[in-house]
Amino acid sequence: MDGAQKDVRTKPRKQPSRRPNPLISLVAPCYNESESLGLFLDAVLAILKGKDFRFEIVFVDDGSSDDTRAQIMQLADKHQEISLVALSRNFGKEAALTAGLDHARGDAIIVMDVDLQDPPELISDFIAKWREGYDVVYGTREDRQTDTFAKRFTADGFYRLFNKISAIKIPENTGDYRLMDRRVVETVKQLPERSRFMKGLFAWVGYSSAGVSYVRPVRAAGTTKFNFWRLWNFAIDGIASFSTVPLRMWSYVGAIIATLSFIYALIIVTKTIITGTDVPGYASLITFILFFGSVQMISIGVLGEYISRLFVEVKGRPIYVVDETYDGSAEDR
Ligand code: UDP
Ligand code: MG
Repeated sequence: MDGAQKDVRTKPRKQPSRRPNPLISLVAPCYNESESLGLFLDAVLAILKGKDFRFEIVFVDDGSSDDTRAQIMQLADKHQEISLVALSRNFGKEAALTAGLDHARGDAIIVMDVDLQDPPELISDFIAKWREGYDVVYGTREDRQTDTFAKRFTADGFYRLFNKISAIKIPENTGDYRLMDRRVVETVKQLPERSRFMKGLFAWVGYSSAGVSYVRPVRAAGTTKFNFWRLWNFAIDGIASFSTVPLRMWSYVGAIIATLSFIYALIIVTKTIITGTDVPGYASLITFILFFGSVQMISIGVLGEYISRLFVEVKGRPIYVVDETYDGSAEDR
């Protein structure tokens, strides 16, 4: 394990080296977001323009099948701050984020969804905190009113379980929406794994961090790209990437069952010695067979989860493939 960690919040750095006119990068992964793009850009530009920092917006087109890519290119022609990294197919949000971080050049980098569920107003607070000396500033959801009961319940359970069995703690109710200093991003980029549970990776690198709370609005346009099955796989991925408890617990389960079986064996043997042989016990026998059968199935399944991850890591394929990048009118960068 990587050493237990107690609290997720820390003090700001005493002597942060913050440039006077820093470049702030916005990284926004997009998958079929043609309906939200325009709204997003208007909202974000209203916040970013005319401030005491420069900015760039890196859109990552995660293999959209609508005209998201064409739209971003048009925007890039109009605004020199905008650039596009287009992936060769849909690689998933985590890979798209990785691509965005690799291409962003800012002194600080903000990761943001394009559906306006990450309120752009927070950007100023993020930057203020960053200037105070925090290297990571993340948005924390005040409540989950805009989520369905089922999603709130499962999300809550996931964070609790994750933080219990992983040495790395992730702050509850925190999404990907955050600002990271350049050195944090450089560290994240050094993590080579293919299973990119970004929230976990962000927490793993550490550094001083602060949270800014906000109320998460509903999606501005379009529909969510995460259905139940995708979220479920995402949760499994997160746990299997950051905890070995599911793998190790079977030794203990085995030991407990072995002890219980031994006691039971003693009881049966003693009983047979005292009362002689009889042949009852179909019910208990079949129960035991089924029980141990399923315990073994589950533990093999858990082994499979880890082995499949090893398999993916060992293959060492790139995390994403870039189809093209586009800068539009950006000659002066
Ligand atoms: N996204 C992506 N690739 C995917 C799925 C989603 O880049 O395969 C992007 C999506 O365009 C959006 C962000 O990830 O900017 C969050 O997606 P969504 O709003 O659907 O997730 P939710 O807010 O419902 O969890
Ligand atoms: Mg969303």
